[in-house]
Amino acid sequence: MQSCVKTALGKVEMADIPTPTPGPGEIVLKTTLTTVCGSDIHFLDEIPNEILMFIYPSLAKRLPNLPGLPMGHEGVGIVHAVGEGVTRFQPGERVIASFDIGCGKCLQCHTGDHTICTGGGECLFGTQSEYYLVPFADINATQVPDDVSDEQALLATDIMSTGFAAIERAETQIGDSVAIFAQGPVGLCATAGARARGAGLIIAVESVPERIEASKKFGANVVINPQEKEPAAEIMSLTNGQGVDVAVEAVGLQATFEAASRAVRRGGTISSIGIYGILPQLSMPTNAPSFYHRRVVMTLGPAGFNRLNHMLDIIRYGKVDLSPLFTHRMKLSQTPEAYNFFREKRDGVLKIAITP
Ligand SMILES: [Zn+2]
Ligand SMILES: [Zn+2]
Repeated sequence: MQSCVKTALGKVEMADIPTPTPGPGEIVLKTTLTTVCGSDIHFLDEIPNEILMFIYPSLAKRLPNLPGLPMGHEGVGIVHAVGEGVTRFQPGERVIASFDIGCGKCLQCHTGDHTICTGGGECLFGTQSEYYLVPFADINATQVPDDVSDEQALLATDIMSTGFAAIERAETQIGDSVAIFAQGPVGLCATAGARARGAGLIIAVESVPERIEASKKFGANVVINPQEKEPAAEIMSLTNGQGVDVAVEAVGLQATFEAASRAVRRGGTISSIGIYGILPQLSMPTNAPSFYHRRVVMTLGPAGFNRLNHMLDIIRYGKVDLSPLFTHRMKLSQTPEAYNFFREKRDGVLKIAITP
């Protein structure tokens, strides 16, 4: 089968690799839609395959026999093969799986947070292929209802869950003011999540024109362009000098984390969903009002079938439609090109719908 594989740091290419066969508890999906995500860029440009094999033990089993690491963790597919012991899936069903894979058995999975699984959980790899494997399928995958499109369903696997979680984990209340720093694909999902949650004033911070436009469409009342105005000062003046109840960091930079820290009110919450990549440490301002007066929460995208079902339900019944995030379309064979396109943020790109 054709697969987009990472052969070296910063380098992806299409390769012909064996179609995966499901082991116990696993299913194999025939891809109908996939995409490139910001996390793929971190995996590609910053983390050597040797280290990924160390972090994700199942890769250590598969990778030595492949020309490279099968890339991609956001996808939709049709069940092609079902491994021994799987009870919830039949061939032919349309299915999504969480990008973060929990074992479903360890202490952390039992707390409900599969993203910190210590029982063999890992990240999904290989959705940018004609077929991909889903480990612990009964825990991490779910059927997609007919009235949800592939594009809507794909977003539920990662960035919608992540963006919405930024708002939920901050315990955002109805009418709260929320500022979201950066309106990339995940930041836009946080904006839509804040609106869906019933926030009051939603302030987005963004400078790219296409993203400013999208931000308003997804629920922002005010967009501050940091190239024109100092965001924290502007947020203070929009909130009677108090600061917002919740400030979301959605890019993964020290500067935006600090700006979010300054923009939040005393007693408010800084909610961090940015991936700081190889940043070795993150520091926060301690000058008054200091970190003693704020709450800091962080999250990776909540995972597992119950979470996926919640995302699908808010798409179906809550009338949340994030599919306008797909600004471009490409074929699977063009995936290496899609990486460059996405990395360089060409042509106002947010998400690229990649089909076989
Ligand atoms: Zn992702
Ligand atoms: Zn686990």
